[in-house]
Amino acid sequence: MSHVMNTYARQPVAFVRGQGVWLWDEDGRKYLDALAGIAVNTLGHNHPRLVRALSEQIGRVIHTSNLFRQPLQEAAADRIAEMTGLDEVFFCNSGLEANEAAIKIARKYGHDRGVSEPAIIVMEKAFHGRSLATLSASGSRKVQAGFEPLVQGFVRVPLNDLEAVRQIAAHNKNVVAVFIEPIQGEGGINVARLEYLRGLKEICDRHEWLFMSDEVQCGLGRTGKWFVYQHAGFLPDVLPLAKGLGSGVPVGACVVGGRARGVFKPGNHGSTFGGNPLAMTAVITTIDTVKEESLLTNAVRVGDAIRDGLAAGLQGLPGVVEVRGMGLMLGVELDRPCGEIVQRAMEAELIVNVTADNVIRLLPPLVISETEGREVVERLARVVKSFLASSTAQPQATAAR
Ligand code: PLP
Repeated sequence: MSHVMNTYARQPVAFVRGQGVWLWDEDGRKYLDALAGIAVNTLGHNHPRLVRALSEQIGRVIHTSNLFRQPLQEAAADRIAEMTGLDEVFFCNSGLEANEAAIKIARKYGHDRGVSEPAIIVMEKAFHGRSLATLSASGSRKVQAGFEPLVQGFVRVPLNDLEAVRQIAAHNKNVVAVFIEPIQGEGGINVARLEYLRGLKEICDRHEWLFMSDEVQCGLGRTGKWFVYQHAGFLPDVLPLAKGLGSGVPVGACVVGGRARGVFKPGNHGSTFGGNPLAMTAVITTIDTVKEESLLTNAVRVGDAIRDGLAAGLQGLPGVVEVRGMGLMLGVELDRPCGEIVQRAMEAELIVNVTADNVIRLLPPLVISETEGREVVERLARVVKSFLASSTAQPQATAAR
């Protein structure tokens, strides 16, 4: 019996080596990785520049703590400020920690303005993490069940529904922030419309609320710009990041600007590991390499090719509801639960994931080439066709999500 706690239903495959978008298992079988460790391996596997930078840094110093100046943290924060357009960066180790910091900033912002019970507007089907505050902010009963009492102070609305937000603005004077995943990853690749994001930002400005954009999964270049809010053409006040920020080295960041600038003072927040020299080397190398290898342009080019290829390859197939997403964050919604696709794809030596029961999720590394993108399309189209041919429709799957 394994002593690893049983919190994941794992595939019985162990990867022992990687190169670019390819992974090899213990038996030497080679897989095409269209998941990147759930949007983490921005530079793919074994990127020579990242390996060299990390190896050199390990040989110098790994960790010193935040009790001392950290020049690499300063260098990483400069880069993040430049690419986000924001001002201050708090470094942590994961997405939930970045979001936990965001929630604390919103509450502190409220208290500073005399709101003693600050509330945050959150979205149905959102996923923000598994700590008590972030699971309470998430819009999934599955994530919350068994962990009540939930943290108070969240008001939930449907995504893409501005009227619902206006109603709350009219009646709830405790609201201090809106917290949104502009493309919901775990919720099924649900994309916030850009005009909706702009409308939401306008409401935030009118009421002096914080606009908090959880780009832990959709950010860091995956959509063809560094961040989704940049497609909409404005700046958020709070931007939690993690996943792709360190290309596989655990690191998170809560970035702030606008109305959230200066809210945290010394002693308000902290992290022992946050921003250590090893993680900062990963951040700096990831950002510099994305720029130098023009991976934003690549994300659009290959992402569009995959989306168009899947749309054409699956067109008219009964059971396929929609192919959607932006850049290299794509979903294929079927009209039935399709968890089985993961196993079938593994048999076709393709790594994908299924989320929200009936959405196949693709999050390949940003280094994926067009040829490799075509290979993803061919393998996945074959798997989806054979799955649909051997299963029956359950149209309630979409409604039940
Ligand atoms: N926010 C979003 C949008 C996520 O997709 C995730 C993880 O999937 C998280 C937060 C939580 O990140 P972590 O698992 O690093 O705590």
